[in-house]
Amino acid sequence: MSDLGLNGKVAVVTGASRGIGRAIALELAARGARVVVNYHRSEQAAQEVVSQIQANGGEAVAFQADVSDFQQAQALIKFALETFGDLHILVNNAGITRDTLLMTMSEEDWDEVIRTNLKSTFNCSKAAIRHMIRKRYGRIINIASVAGQMGNAGQTNYSASKAGQIGFTKALAREVASRNITVNAIAPGFVDTEILNTMPRETLEAALKLVPLGRMGRPEEIAFAVAFLASDQAAYITGQVLGVDGGMAMM
Ligand code: NAP
Repeated sequence: MSDLGLNGKVAVVTGASRGIGRAIALELAARGARVVVNYHRSEQAAQEVVSQIQANGGEAVAFQADVSDFQQAQALIKFALETFGDLHILVNNAGITRDTLLMTMSEEDWDEVIRTNLKSTFNCSKAAIRHMIRKRYGRIINIASVAGQMGNAGQTNYSASKAGQIGFTKALAREVASRNITVNAIAPGFVDTEILNTMPRETLEAALKLVPLGRMGRPEEIAFAVAFLASDQAAYITGQVLGVDGGMAMM
C-alpha cells in the first residue's frame, strides 16, 4: 500500500499489550505513527510491544489504565497529549468476554463486559474528542465484532456491548463529521488470539464452518484494516462498519 499519511501522527491504542491491539500498535508504528500502547494488567507484554516498535525505529510508550474507568481513560488521553503534544487516532480495542447462557449469566458478568467493551469506548472517545474538534482532525476506530451484528449464543453481554459500539460509532460519526473527524468500526470474525481460549474447541470448530473463507483471521489482518481507516485515503469514509471476518456476516 502506498504512503497512508500516518507518518508523525499520534495514536492511542487501548488494550495494545496482546492480540489484535498489539498488532494494531505495531502496524501503525511501522507506518510512522507515534503510539501510546495502553494496557491493563499485562505490563511486561506492553513493554515488549514498545521495545519491538523501538527496535524497528519507531516511537512508542506504554501507559497503564483500566479504560472502563472514566478517570483512568481521561488520564490515558492526557498522557498521550502531554507526551506527544497531539492526538490524531484513537483505536478503542480493549475488550473481554464472560461467556455463558443468559440463564446462568450473573449481573457481574453483564456489567463487566458492558463496562470494559462499551463504556470504555465512551470514556476514551469523550476524553479525546475535545482536542480533535479543536484541531479539526481525528480518526476514531472502534473494534466491534460480528457478534454485534449477528448475535452469538452464550454472548448476550458481549453481543450487546459490540452492537452498542456500532450504534455509538454511527451517532458520533454524525456529530463530528463537520469537524473533519471520522468514526468507524471494524467487525472482526474469529481472530486467532487468547480471547478465544475460553471457547470450547468443538464450539470454535463448528463456528469456523460458518466462515466462507474457512479459517480464522490473523491479528495483522485486522490491524491492516485499522491502518486503512486511519489513512488519508479513507477521509471520505465515516459511520461505517468494516467486516474483516472471512465473509461470515454479509450485511
Ligand atoms: P485479547 O488477546 O484477550 O486481548 C485483550 C486486550 O484488551 C489485552 O491487551 C488487555 O490488556 C486489554 N484489556 C482488557 N481489559 C482492559 C481494560 N479494562 N483496560 C485496558 N485494556 C484492557 O483479545 P483480542 O482478541 O485481541 O481482542 C481485542 C478486541 O477485538 C476486543 O475488543 C475484542 O472484543 C475484539 N474482537 C476479537 C475477536 C477475536 O476473535 N479475537 C473477534 C471479534 C472482536 P491486559 O492484558 O493488559 O489486561
